[in-house]
Amino acid sequence: MATTTTMKGTAPALLDFTTFTNTIDGKQTTTAETRHSTNPSTLEANPEVPVSTEEDVNRAVEAARKAYNSWRKTTFAERRACLEAYADGIAANLEGFATMLTREQGRPIALTRMEVATTSERLKQTAALELTDEIIADDKDSGGQTVVKRYTPLGVACGIVPWNFPIGLAALKLSAAVMTGNVFIMKPSPFTPYANLKMAELAQQFFPPGVIQCLSGDDSLGPWLTEHPGIDKVSFTGSVATGKRIMQSCSKTLKRVTLELGGNDAAIVFPDVKDVAATAATLAQACFFNTSQICIAIKRVYVHADIYSAFRAAFVAAANGFVYGDGLAPHESAPFMGPLTTETQYKHVQTLLDDVRATKLDVVRGDDGRDPLATAMDTKDAGKGYFVRPVIVDNPPDSARVVAEEAFGPIVPLMQWTDEEDVIRRANDTRLGLGASVWSGDLAHAAEVARRLEAGNVWVNTHMMSHPEAPFGGHKWSGIGVEGGVDGLKQYCDIQVLYLAN
Ligand code: NAD
Repeated sequence: MATTTTMKGTAPALLDFTTFTNTIDGKQTTTAETRHSTNPSTLEANPEVPVSTEEDVNRAVEAARKAYNSWRKTTFAERRACLEAYADGIAANLEGFATMLTREQGRPIALTRMEVATTSERLKQTAALELTDEIIADDKDSGGQTVVKRYTPLGVACGIVPWNFPIGLAALKLSAAVMTGNVFIMKPSPFTPYANLKMAELAQQFFPPGVIQCLSGDDSLGPWLTEHPGIDKVSFTGSVATGKRIMQSCSKTLKRVTLELGGNDAAIVFPDVKDVAATAATLAQACFFNTSQICIAIKRVYVHADIYSAFRAAFVAAANGFVYGDGLAPHESAPFMGPLTTETQYKHVQTLLDDVRATKLDVVRGDDGRDPLATAMDTKDAGKGYFVRPVIVDNPPDSARVVAEEAFGPIVPLMQWTDEEDVIRRANDTRLGLGASVWSGDLAHAAEVARRLEAGNVWVNTHMMSHPEAPFGGHKWSGIGVEGGVDGLKQYCDIQVLYLAN
């Protein structure tokens, strides 16, 4: 196989997280122009990163095409060894990655450590998957033919990554691409380029030059990649609006496209849940984790009228109990919520709060008596950053913006229901179909309801769980294609059928 520079068993080198470069053809390179993002907790500047030019894109694609000629010939076992060693390299640099993620994304350090650890684990789980030839017919001995279905790599894959889980989401794309014999160019979000750039730098210890590359840049970079004739596949995670633009752009060169887009997940809570208060507390976590900036966060909560007021009291108590703040500053107890990651997101949440105020919707007050709408952004105690406290809107109509739109911020509507058919209709009444959940003491009945929800991932008595062998993807406008498991590997392949006759 083409040489790898560090073999399994050799201790991976520790990365330096002070300077940040592109990785092109196995080398760390920078650009004449640089830029930086902002730490969303402190509003201080993060370090400089490259602003790639079209010429950098061309060089990366050329190196990728060269690397592909050898990498496609490697065996699954050879690629597995590289990916497993890379996973160890990520784990060895856990503290560096987690600290950088907190500086760029804002999530408190205990939770970014979780992202890094889970990423390393998921890389190994992907390395353990098998995508083997399938014998469709074997009639050769009786004068017929053997028919074999194979999965062949596409060539150069490009992963376009959002800012909410930068390394976890990049790793899903990268690992499926290289395990199937493709080479990979990563494009981080301009808001969170740092950990992604270091992922590619680290990869040079384990993969041949050109197999894993990364370019950071401004808003021009994405379109240069999606239109480039030397790129064969784009896997994008981000908003629906950008997903549509990407698909249009990729159509010019008939690139294969995977789109993992937004969600507006509904949770339906039945009156027979075993413990109303405990269920409410669990749902609050699934609503506010990562300051609600998760595609599969619960964004609409439908609670049966019989338990609505008890649920609401426990839900608001749990939400008001979440500590928020700068995830790297000393705290009495570790914060659960960091700031919103970007100024755009902060302003978007502000418009939703303004809309709640203008349309005179009710908001739930906690025991502290504070007016949540008036004080949601009054968070100077946490510092200068884009902090917002949880706001819970009390039984708004389904037409309210806070129900109909993906907030991607800590503003969550609780709604009452009484009729099962009607609540299923309300949950499905959206263009989006990423996730949904049903909460009930009657598992069999909950599973029936779950089957009727129009979403790619439906949970009963839990939410956001995943499994390394399960595909993840959205229905309707939440996406096209899947990531994860063997189905995720297939997204980086064409099918070839061999007909073998004597
Ligand atoms: P976004 O759409 O603003 O951008 C994501 C990425 O696309 C960035 O890297 C950006 O630079 C790039 N980009 C923007 N315009 C481009 C273009 N014309 N061509 C090529 N690239 C372009 O998304 P975001 O705000 O970073 O992420 C938030 C959204 O992502 C939410 O809607 C969320 O639900 C969704 N999301 C979905 C999943 C999923 O798995 N389904 C996971 C996480 C986030």
